[in-house]
Amino acid sequence: MEILRTCADLRAWSHEQRGLGKVVGLVPTMGALHAGHASLIRAARRGAGAVAVSLFVNPTQFGPSEDFARYPRSFEADCVLAAAAGADVVFAPSVEEMYPAGAVTFVEVPGLSDRLDGKSRPGHFRGVASVVTKLLIATEADRAYFGQKDAAQVALLRRLVADLRFATEIVVCPIVREPDGLALSSRNVYLSLSERQQALAMSRAVRKAEAIFAAGDHSAESLISAARQVLLAEPDLRIDYVELVDWGTLLPIEAAHSGALFAVAAWVGPTRLIDNTVFAYSPDEEITAAPWIAEEATPEPQCALHLPSAVHFDRAGSNSP
Ligand code: AMP
Repeated sequence: MEILRTCADLRAWSHEQRGLGKVVGLVPTMGALHAGHASLIRAARRGAGAVAVSLFVNPTQFGPSEDFARYPRSFEADCVLAAAAGADVVFAPSVEEMYPAGAVTFVEVPGLSDRLDGKSRPGHFRGVASVVTKLLIATEADRAYFGQKDAAQVALLRRLVADLRFATEIVVCPIVREPDGLALSSRNVYLSLSERQQALAMSRAVRKAEAIFAAGDHSAESLISAARQVLLAEPDLRIDYVELVDWGTLLPIEAAHSGALFAVAAWVGPTRLIDNTVFAYSPDEEITAAPWIAEEATPEPQCALHLPSAVHFDRAGSNSP
């Protein structure tokens, strides 16, 4: 597996792969790779002939009081995991490479970037949109793989890709969890034993909402208040948000439907964690259309279920309890 450090090298690699007739897949990450990232890389391996994994702790998506400096970094282990999961190249640029001296150009996705995580992390999605745009321009990826774990990010990036007319297809991979339900996150290493116990309330809250939905009560009020009760039972857990939203717009809705996003965020001690579920009337059901998805039909990727309106899920890596 090759390690690339510059956008020019990444672009040259990508052109070469396309010249060989290969579909190019991109898996953007901030490193500190875990099994959740591995599931994305494996999905890319199934869906693309050439797979690039980016490892870049993007400073612009961290607020001034957030954990940029202490964000876990494990480059060698990341390379081992990426190679084992099927990456052909790792792209590990410096901050200066991604933000050259004097750079002032950013990508804004107004509206979406102020909702859910964007509300409590001002500027976060501007940073995400900007870095992903740079990666998409460098790779001209045919497919880019993202986790449902960051569901608001998925909504924002799908809007961005549609608006900027990128030819890239966004493939969404399910949340990989620990056996006890905790969603894998690079930030889980921050948790003390007791915080980790309390963090389990996040997935319990999501499961509670799923159970209520499955029992036929779809009202936002019921779903949110039941999930809040689960979270409030934990003394060191501080709720950021519990929301039922349209997954396309991230705007609140009164009643859940198939494809609606139910998302929670909370601080467990000093660590902010997120979790979510996308409701479905039955486990095999296709997620319904979001209104803003590009109309153009794209070829069916081998790895993904084709969902109406070009929402692509790759559920093969799912280990949800
Ligand atoms: P990050 O390194 O945290 O920026 O995440 C990189 C990608 O991995 C994003 O698309 C995340 O949604 C995805 N990801 C992170 N955690 C998980 C998980 N537990 N399951 C599936 N995907 C994940």
